[in-house]
Amino acid sequence: MANDVWVYIEHKEGAISPMSFELLGIGKELASGFGSNLCAFVIGAKVDDLAKEAGAYGASKVYAVEGDVFKDFRGEAYAKAAAFLLDKYKPEVALFRATIMGTDVAAAAAAQLGFGLCTDTIGLAMDGGKVKMTRAAFGGNFSVSVVNEKAAPQIATVRPKAFAMPEKGAGTAEVVKESFSVADADISTKVVEFLQSASAVNLVEADIIVSGGRGLGNEAGFEMLQQLADMLGGAVGASRAAVDSEWIPYEHQVGQTGKTVKPKIYIACGISGAIQHLAGMRTSDCIVAINKDPDAPIFKAATFGIVGDYKEVVPKMIEKFKSKLGK
Ligand SMILES: Cc1cc2nc3c(=O)[nH]c(=O)nc-3n(C[C@H](O)[C@H](O)[C@H](O)COP(=O)(O)OP(=O)(O)OC[C@H]3O[C@@H](n4cnc5c(N)ncnc54)[C@H](O)[C@@H]3O)c2cc1C
Repeated sequence: MANDVWVYIEHKEGAISPMSFELLGIGKELASGFGSNLCAFVIGAKVDDLAKEAGAYGASKVYAVEGDVFKDFRGEAYAKAAAFLLDKYKPEVALFRATIMGTDVAAAAAAQLGFGLCTDTIGLAMDGGKVKMTRAAFGGNFSVSVVNEKAAPQIATVRPKAFAMPEKGAGTAEVVKESFSVADADISTKVVEFLQSASAVNLVEADIIVSGGRGLGNEAGFEMLQQLADMLGGAVGASRAAVDSEWIPYEHQVGQTGKTVKPKIYIACGISGAIQHLAGMRTSDCIVAINKDPDAPIFKAATFGIVGDYKEVVPKMIEKFKSKLGK
């Protein structure tokens, strides 16, 4: 149907990350606003498992382009396939995750179709028969809402974890396989090898994050936090003040101009709780704040607060978890 809502399903090296399905939750709300269907679309060498999973997360139909040429992720080929599907079916809205891969496909497909694109969206709501898309602007000092009145589909990339992950159910989706291909010779890139970056950090998908701020005082403080994160199988985050001090790279930054995270446990060490930091982590299931100032604003957002010097508290936590977890 013309006013359906479509969600692009990402996958990596043949493996499905359940996080790929997170946009199906907000997609469902928008589809019910339009009185239309929630559909997924997927591109890859083998898409049957992905299509099955998308059905379990709420998609009623999955449009798929399959072929060996899509075995490795190459933005150029994927964007051609995405543009083909969007042009053929003209859904009302097409949502992509604002990841490197999602943004790559969305931007190139939008350009091929001659449509606008709202990137890094953090809010999506029905507005007079269209979808209003909200994103941060001017370095996070303002938020701006846009409606793309002329384009169908309205295309957006959506910040990971900006919306709650839907529950997995027992639903199934009808799979519509489209025959579309791209000649290898027409793609200017070839994947030679995948290398894992030494500083790879998957903050967005981590269940436990141990985060540090200016209160750590120096780079060594992050080594201590890394030990705690390793003990708990988590990742290390940071405030902008710590990143600006060059104690840790930007990809660890949480907040309005960093990443939005929603782990089960967020441990904030030496972080005051500025509004721009809270914007990126306040929806965490459980927030533990460690700060030596009892009046620090972070305590207002925290589930548990520990007033103290992190240099004393964190080693005790490491010891305690070591004996509890038998590590
Ligand atoms: C447009 C804009 C965008 C921004 N985006 C972001 C963003 O994405 N993310 C972000 O984090 N910030 C962002 N900021 C910056 C934000 O306003 C704050 O300046 C920043 O979050 C402060 O970082 P902090 O809490 O580490 O430092 P501080 O505010 O300086 O707090 C340090 C805390 O550590 C405590 N402390 C000190 N020593 C110890 C110790 N030994 N043990 C325990 N506690 C101790 C202190 O009591 C204090 O509460 C942005 C600002 C602007 C204007």
